[in-house]
Amino acid sequence: MKFVAEALSLSEPAAIRLYRKSILKPAFIPHPFFSDIEEAYSLEKKFGKFEEGTLIALAGKTYVARGFPKIKRTLMLKECVNRHFKGCDVAVEEKINGYNIRILKIGNNLYAITRRGYICPYTTEKAREKINEEFFKDYPEFMLCCEAAGMESPHVPKEIYGKGLEFFLFDIRNSKTNEAMKVEEKLKIAEEYGFKIARVFGIWSGKELVDESFEIVKKLDREGREGIVLKDVDMKKKAVKYTTSYCNCSDLEYGFRYFSELGRDFVLTRAVREGFQSYEIDDVEERRKRYERVGKAIVDGLIKSIEEVKKTGKLKERTKLRFKSKEVMELFIQHMKRLARVNFEYGGFENGYILYMEKYMPSTSDKIKNLLDGGFW
Ligand code: ATP
Ligand code: MG
Repeated sequence: MKFVAEALSLSEPAAIRLYRKSILKPAFIPHPFFSDIEEAYSLEKKFGKFEEGTLIALAGKTYVARGFPKIKRTLMLKECVNRHFKGCDVAVEEKINGYNIRILKIGNNLYAITRRGYICPYTTEKAREKINEEFFKDYPEFMLCCEAAGMESPHVPKEIYGKGLEFFLFDIRNSKTNEAMKVEEKLKIAEEYGFKIARVFGIWSGKELVDESFEIVKKLDREGREGIVLKDVDMKKKAVKYTTSYCNCSDLEYGFRYFSELGRDFVLTRAVREGFQSYEIDDVEERRKRYERVGKAIVDGLIKSIEEVKKTGKLKERTKLRFKSKEVMELFIQHMKRLARVNFEYGGFENGYILYMEKYMPSTSDKIKNLLDGGFW
């Protein structure tokens, strides 16, 4: 705990108190795959200037990986650009729908850290395979902030980002101070080291920025993509996110599919986004199409689940993962069991060890079963 106390500028007893209160949690499962790390903790909550998900690790010396900052969402794109980014040059980036990962070198190896500050075995294995380590020789103080996305994702499987799991770089940050490199510098580095990036569509300001943003959002919507993130090119202002109707509606479908697990806030927020977007951009024809899209998302989500319960008796989500090493696969099972109620099924060897992960949705399953049997809501 002494190294944690020093990293957070606390006394050792104060750090121990954070641990007892579960604000500091063990961030990894000791294993030869994580051989560099002697001890590691993550912050479950924001603490002083340290963001939630900050990792503090001991591996010969102390490593700190600051948590990824929250990104604010706008529902009124034009107003937001005009006020928040007044007079700024702003990069319009694609928002990728996967899970947030920070990659850094600890000791002699790369480690992939989740948003909550845990070292994920699966993502770490993929990062060691796919990320050019040379970068860390030249920039040892920095971490790569990426969206891990694709079909073989344990959290958000989406084929549009690839059949396996890919890393889309969106920020390069000093891991101790969380200061982000400017957009141009990030692009130069991505080019130099061959990193895949979240697309940068261009850099604009003022009215042009507003017009281009709307055009890009429309195009992304047609392509079935999530949305955009606006970033001041110097990375001094807070970034802003804005999502497509496609994304809002596919979330709505998902929210109604598992209506009892996800809760009201999840679907309410998505519905409100659709209302504001319609107010801001729709003509009569567009609004008519939106009625249909939103309605279809809600009904289809429910129908899918009702049919599944009718057929199989329960609702579950199933994802397929692929590991290079069987030991890492077993480590990942342990890792996930600590974090969520999930089941695993080994799927044999096929270009890697296949693991099926299943998440059972008991609450929605039971509600639907009862209703199908003529029970009351
Ligand atoms: P928040 O970041 O506000 O806590 P959240 O965890 O609910 O929100 P999202 O609504 O998906 O996440 O939006 C923010 C996340 O989007 C980032 O944490 C990051 O993982 C992801 N992301 C995808 N593409 C980009 C990009 N180009 N720039 C920044 N973040 C991106
Ligand atoms: Mg996301």
